[in-house]
Amino acid sequence: MAGDMDLIAELEEGDRGLNSFIVLDREGVVLKKRAKKGKLAGLKVGVKSNISVDGLPVTAASKTLENYIGSYDAFVVERIREEGGSIVGMTNMDEFACGSSGETSFYNETDNPSAPGRIPGGSSSGSAASVAAGLVDVSIGSDTGGSIRNPASHCGVVGFKPTYGVISRYGLLDLAMSLDQIGPLARNVESSALLLEAIAGHDPRDETSLDLEKGFYNFTGNLDPRLEDKRLGYAREFDSLIQDKGIGRVIHKAIDKFSSSGAEIIDLSLPNLKIALPTYYLNVYVEFYSATRKYDGRRYGHRIETVCGEEVLRRILLGKYITQREYSGRYYRRALQARSVLRRELMDALRDVDVLVGPAVPKLPHKLGTRIDDPMVMYAYDIFTVLANLAGIPAGVVPAGETDSIPTGLHVMGKPLGDQKVLDVMYGFEQY
Ligand code: GLN
Repeated sequence: MAGDMDLIAELEEGDRGLNSFIVLDREGVVLKKRAKKGKLAGLKVGVKSNISVDGLPVTAASKTLENYIGSYDAFVVERIREEGGSIVGMTNMDEFACGSSGETSFYNETDNPSAPGRIPGGSSSGSAASVAAGLVDVSIGSDTGGSIRNPASHCGVVGFKPTYGVISRYGLLDLAMSLDQIGPLARNVESSALLLEAIAGHDPRDETSLDLEKGFYNFTGNLDPRLEDKRLGYAREFDSLIQDKGIGRVIHKAIDKFSSSGAEIIDLSLPNLKIALPTYYLNVYVEFYSATRKYDGRRYGHRIETVCGEEVLRRILLGKYITQREYSGRYYRRALQARSVLRRELMDALRDVDVLVGPAVPKLPHKLGTRIDDPMVMYAYDIFTVLANLAGIPAGVVPAGETDSIPTGLHVMGKPLGDQKVLDVMYGFEQY
């Protein structure tokens, strides 16, 4: 116990000025429940504040839940404890996971340890920043449209979102349940695979959870860095959507690296990429509106509309509007149709390649405190990442280089259940 308290004191010191944690486990409530042995023994783990941990504040970084203490462990939390991982606290995030910068937290913004003074990305801002700063070994994030991969790119760490259903969502506060997945953030691919291995698996309490054969879950044992037999697709639309030239340079250098390692680069096209953002946001508004109806002030905390921030309120109001107009099928039905068009297009593109590679984000992280009045400017960060959620496919980000000392990640997307291939390509890239 004394050792644990020293650890927490050290973390508190290290997080000063960074603000990657909303709360640390000062009383040792989760720490004392961990197993002595296991895959994660000796590893410090951060958990995003929208994942339930028995006895710790689960605030989703919102005033709505400021006094809410988790009353049970999420599936992933049970797994981490059983594998001996030390959950040290709850990480900072965008309010209810709505955002791409970490700036909408009720508990204030998080700095980017790899590019100080800039946003760390979001919404899993604290999970990525705590890993990048070396405060924890690994952390858990959630990804609805890029919230693990976007901050991984900005902070220069590895982030992975599995195929929909590979990790149980039991205990995750929904943003949009048909898109949400939990996943790992770590400083290298092997640690990401290790955490993934610990938290993946069938859970009957989540009806979308998949029950796969044992071998599927052996992510570290199966890791294979060979690139020479791989076919990697690159969509020509990516280039025109990249806003910062530095990102384009880093990504093209990565592609050259793949070519010289013997991988084959296949030029292909995703002509509907331009409708990905509106499709994603329409789906999110409707699902988020419905997910927030339980925050009416009766069961937990405050009534959400009376205390939440601007972006959360925007989504609730738009979701309500679209839902009420739905009899005419004007928006949501169309958004669902657009989602199937995009999914089909992506599946076609993936048919003849192992994975798609490309940029994770179109622009470098902005400076903290920059005023962004137009929500579209914020949403633009998500253009490359939302596809994987709309299609339910696995996708990860691995550090690829820097522009003016600001990290840029390479994005790898795979076929459904091709999680291992995505990890392998990321691993091969990291090793090369
Ligand atoms: N930035 C996206 C959004 O605001 C993604 C969020 C996420 O993945 N949780 O919806």
